[in-house]
Amino acid sequence: MPHSTETDPHGFKRRGVLFVLSSPSGAGKSTIARKLLAADEHLQMSVSVTTRAMRPGEVDGVDYHFVDLERFREIANNHEFLEWAHVFNHRYGTLRSTVEEILDSGRDVLFDIDWQGAQQLFQLAGGDVVRVFILPPSFVELRQRLVNRATDSIEVIDARMARAAAEVSHWDGYDYVLVNDDVDQCYRSVHTILNAERLKRSRQTGLIGFIRGLMK
Ligand code: 5GP
Repeated sequence: MPHSTETDPHGFKRRGVLFVLSSPSGAGKSTIARKLLAADEHLQMSVSVTTRAMRPGEVDGVDYHFVDLERFREIANNHEFLEWAHVFNHRYGTLRSTVEEILDSGRDVLFDIDWQGAQQLFQLAGGDVVRVFILPPSFVELRQRLVNRATDSIEVIDARMARAAAEVSHWDGYDYVLVNDDVDQCYRSVHTILNAERLKRSRQTGLIGFIRGLMK
């Protein structure tokens, strides 16, 4: 798993952060991801490939790369995925080329993937992944958010609720767990985590040269 380097505002080289955001759907993850991307030019979304149908308002190549099952299998057989998983009877996968391009451009990568993807990525990157899990304040509120979103049928919402409970059971596979009872507050916390992770000594590969210079 390549981790290219970039330069931070102080001029130190550092490894790009692989930043995973997971949550049951409707817990506010997409809003938080959007806010992060709008506020932070050093962060870029890894656009996944999926076999699920496009929802109203979604754009191919922006929200996902929408493909049929045959094409998905072809990509998987060509080993072009870093990870992929079945979610809600559909397949979702992260393209290796997408992640490499973002890291090569000197940015950090934001992943909106489920716990299976987080686990696979963690193994692949030798643990060098930051995993954040967002919890809804309650399941009653989660259901209400899915109904308000009005993008899915009641059957799909019921299935998502069942899946939410299963998803939450994997909370202990994450480094940070936050409750989204206030989306602005939750976004600020997630951004703080990202910035703190960027400053970790182990990520600042150019720091040693700077320290040597200081000590001369
Ligand atoms: P949705 O269909 O609501 O956009 O996404 C459903 C679920 O699939 C979400 O939990 C999302 O995080 C997950 N997901 C989206 N892309 C990927 C991916 O590339 N890999 C994995 N493992 N999960 C993904």
